[in-house]
Amino acid sequence: MTDATTRDTVQREAELYIGGRWVPGGGTDLEVENPATEQVTGVITQASTGDVEAAVAAAKAAFPEWAGRPVAERAAVLRRVRDIVAERADVFADIINREQGSPPKLARALHVDTPIAVVDATIAALERFPFASEIGNSLIRREPVGVVAAITPWNLPLHQVVVKVVPALAAGTTVVLKPAGLTPLAAFELARAFDAAGLPPGVFNLVPGSGRVVGDLLTRHPDVAQVSFTGSTPVGRTIAGVAAETLKRVTLELGGKSASVVLSDATDELLAKAVKITVANCFLNGGQTCTALSRLIVPGHRVEQVEELAAAAAAKYAPGSRLGPLISADQRKEVESFLEPGAGGSAAVTVTSPVDLPAHGFYVTPTVVSRVDPDSRLAQEEVFGPVLSILSAGSDDDAVAIANNSIYGLGGAVWGTDSDAALAAAARMQTGQVDVNGGTFNAGAPFGGYKQSGTGREIGEYGIADVCEIKAVQR
Ligand code: NAD
Repeated sequence: MTDATTRDTVQREAELYIGGRWVPGGGTDLEVENPATEQVTGVITQASTGDVEAAVAAAKAAFPEWAGRPVAERAAVLRRVRDIVAERADVFADIINREQGSPPKLARALHVDTPIAVVDATIAALERFPFASEIGNSLIRREPVGVVAAITPWNLPLHQVVVKVVPALAAGTTVVLKPAGLTPLAAFELARAFDAAGLPPGVFNLVPGSGRVVGDLLTRHPDVAQVSFTGSTPVGRTIAGVAAETLKRVTLELGGKSASVVLSDATDELLAKAVKITVANCFLNGGQTCTALSRLIVPGHRVEQVEELAAAAAAKYAPGSRLGPLISADQRKEVESFLEPGAGGSAAVTVTSPVDLPAHGFYVTPTVVSRVDPDSRLAQEEVFGPVLSILSAGSDDDAVAIANNSIYGLGGAVWGTDSDAALAAAARMQTGQVDVNGGTFNAGAPFGGYKQSGTGREIGEYGIADVCEIKAVQR
């Protein structure tokens, strides 16, 4: 993590990447703050509305040629992008350490190595993707939709961009990217990688700026065929409404309140593993992941045992070394509001103790709250910070019902000694992802949510299919 006593490197990005050229941005300057040091670590010039128009026009002009390229050629360009990102992995990790605050090891492993694995999986999916198939006398063609606007959040500054942009480019669409204002710097480095890899002009364009101006313009634009958005559920609702005016296609990857369900047959050993992995998952990236397992649902008679295990596991996440900061002072205030008495219901008790926090940076004490009411604000709303709730269930059916008692449906986990019963419980979880007995992230598997966690799927073949229209040609 950057030492708060030294001055941050200040990355200056005055130019935008539009139509294959770096051009001066026409909007206002924006400072990027390092959330671990509270120092300015970047200054970017945002896009003006004219820049957004130019970027959409460049993407529209580039579309027919890119869409018509043989798959092998698109795969070759993406492979060069992948190699450049891998060669410059330390540069990306340093940028993400500064703009997002992740400790260096995590900045590399989670924020850079994971998106590289996603690129690999997407190239493999592209090479076998069924762009053409047959049903009776019909030829079924999957055709790239046109211009895709990608709008991304701050929690994973490179990964969130890669999971949208790389499958879109693989499919043959062209892209205009608006990264998050709090963490725009990694996207500039990625634009340099696209440029160095020889991506044709206009196929990828970078227009940083506010959601209200740049994001809104992209969502309304008649020449944008699809908006692919990752962010909060409230903004997702706004985007779905605005996109409806032009009946644009939308992919929405939104918030979550994922549950980790321990079934009644779990052995002590499995229970200990479940608690350790759930705490690690909930606190990953300072608790700022959309799939955070923020509710741990356990058999009622084992709550005390789980409280001890969870408190011991949480004590290992020292803020400033293993645990990074929250992204901003506003986010810290929001997370702290979930720690106020009553947020978890009248019976809720905090089982962790306050710890020393670094003098600088937007840190909070990693916290486990037990005996949380399933209908309380703490159990229902996304915290987006290192706060785990423990809830008790009367039976396995009750545990799954509590897990599904949410407007969200993004991730989840199930733990059970009888793996068939655990898989059956996973089938009843109303979520887009479920990890059984510690199953790990698969960079080629579809990613997305049920219910108000969104619509559409990203990554690999599902990510490619998500930006394709389907045409039936009868012969
Ligand atoms: P946010 O919704 O505030 O912003 C996301 C992006 O949308 C930013 O680029 C922002 O500038 C832009 N935006 C804001 N208002 C807009 C508008 N009216 N029109 C167009 N664009 C607009 O989200 P955030 O605070 O950056 O990120 C945190 C949220 O993202 C959390 O809720 C988290 O769960 C969610 N998230 C979801 C996933 C997923 O894959 N499901 C992944 C990561 C984060």
